Amino acid sequence: LGPVIGITCDAILKNVPVRRHALNDPYVACVLEAGGLPMILPNPAPALATKAAAAYLSKVDGLLLTGGDDVDPSNYGQEPHPRLEDRDPVRDAFEIALARAAHKRAIPVLAICRGMQVANVALGGSLIQDIPSQVGESVRHRKGPDGNPPSHEIAVEDGTRLRELVGGPRALVNSYHHQTADRVAPGLRVSARTADGVVEALEDPEHPFFVGVQWHPERAAEDPVTRGLFREFMAAARAGSTEPGSERKPSPTVRFR
Ligand code: MN
Repeated sequence: LGPVIGITCDAILKNVPVRRHALNDPYVACVLEAGGLPMILPNPAPALATKAAAAYLSKVDGLLLTGGDDVDPSNYGQEPHPRLEDRDPVRDAFEIALARAAHKRAIPVLAICRGMQVANVALGGSLIQDIPSQVGESVRHRKGPDGNPPSHEIAVEDGTRLRELVGGPRALVNSYHHQTADRVAPGLRVSARTADGVVEALEDPEHPFFVGVQWHPERAAEDPVTRGLFREFMAAARAGSTEPGSERKPSPTVRFR
């Protein structure tokens, strides 16, 4: 197996006797499918977040920031909106430290859903705390009365890495979120939006691979965009690996359509 991919995880806090780590399998499956070796990164106590993030990042070739609860708005200097949902300050502290350090050290990052929000906050951006009440409901970003998650179109910006991956100006993606980026962090650019203006993807054009998507590619494993995202993420992780004695060597960026 190829590059080691650190995968952040959730913690179950309700109806369990102790804090319990949890991770949906599709993240693991997609990393394996793309040839990576998944390594789940448990959330340490906040006092250890920065040290643990640095130590873990010295052992991985790429970082996958996964979905989950709302980021606490104190991380971007706001008071909670009435529609704010569950938060986990322990996970926030660790993932923000990981995202900052991975960005600084040019370690490839794929950030999914909450992960994209964490990445934006970690680099100095802010979030829309509740899309239905703060943006509107002209586009459904979350399940409706039928219980099914909606799909919606995204418009992909020219000249972005995502545009190369998608191979066209539009794509159909799933949607399971009620938050997204508001003020975009310095150094990041928006690479896709929905018709209501909601940010659906972010990237850093100066970084080897720092890509955030607001949808869940891992829940559409056969989708060509999913395969392209994980394949290019893995190629960047492989290219950046410095592990002695490994077979990994720098390779050109994979162009996937
Ligand atoms: Mn959406």
